[in-house]
Amino acid sequence: MPSLSGKVQTVLGLVEPDHLGYTLTHEHLTMNYSSCFCPPSPGQEPLCDGPIEMKNLFWIKQNPYSHKENLLLYQETDAVKEELLHFKEAGGGTIVENTTTGIGRDMNTLKKLAEETGVHIIAGAGFYVDSTHSSQTQAMTVEQLTGIIVDEILNGADGTNTKCGVVGEIGCSWPLTQSEHRVLQATAQAQSQLGCPVIIHPGRNSDAPFQIIRILQEAGADVSKTVMSHLDRTIFDTKKLLEFAKLGCYLEYDLFGTEFLHYQFHPDIDMPSDNERIARIRMLIDEGYEDRILMAHDVHTKNRLMKYGGTPYYKLVTSYHGKGLCDNIFSCVRSPILLWE
Ligand SMILES: [Zn+2]
Repeated sequence: MPSLSGKVQTVLGLVEPDHLGYTLTHEHLTMNYSSCFCPPSPGQEPLCDGPIEMKNLFWIKQNPYSHKENLLLYQETDAVKEELLHFKEAGGGTIVENTTTGIGRDMNTLKKLAEETGVHIIAGAGFYVDSTHSSQTQAMTVEQLTGIIVDEILNGADGTNTKCGVVGEIGCSWPLTQSEHRVLQATAQAQSQLGCPVIIHPGRNSDAPFQIIRILQEAGADVSKTVMSHLDRTIFDTKKLLEFAKLGCYLEYDLFGTEFLHYQFHPDIDMPSDNERIARIRMLIDEGYEDRILMAHDVHTKNRLMKYGGTPYYKLVTSYHGKGLCDNIFSCVRSPILLWE
């Protein structure tokens, strides 16, 4: 796509890459995650309702997907705006907003936040996991899905003329469903037509990222312009991680700030701490993958916001200074993935 080549497409238009500054490649600023509500353990039902308060915050932090109001990030635009201003002040420049169809993408709010804060915001095209696909989406062919993704990037998404600048996060479950498989093929086709970056949310199984890369490659994607998100909770075995790294996509550790004992979406997974994330990233850097690593916080529920005692969007831009590891770790908060071919 010659007109977009070498540029980055934000919700306010094209930007030169050297204006982006520090970039978080996987965040959400407005989103509705109600479709992924997890029923609580028996006896805890009364804790699901009502407002977020100090006295129930510990429970919400451990059961973020069981508290109904916690899933409504879209109600917190003022708090998000305040955080973006802190992010900017701390030296942050750009946020890739990964909310796709199915979890409440809101182009008008993204545009407003970009205008009011001066932070570059890049919106995501495409579809989240199968459980959020509408019956129309489920019935679409790969060509129809490709057409929608391309249109969201070239003409605007959700009935607005505000354009997406990446494809993703594209949601995949484990096992991958038929509809998700078609969306992945459409993602690859849109990428080969446009030369745009792609961001993937893999299913929660260490084989999932391998399967996804294979499907994308077979459908014509450019793996070197593809981000595999959420590796923190997906590949734990070092040998397997290095095997995956060889495939050449971006390796994203994007759940910084998420620490809990019981991971509701997959109880067998031990969610790592931030220090364990850093240890993994250091290992990948030592193995020569520094240029392929990306880091973010994937804020997607209310309890992650500063207003509720959460980790701010600017944590990565500030926290690792002076710890002796920031020179190469800090460089992982960056943007080359966002350039168009
Ligand atoms: Zn996400």
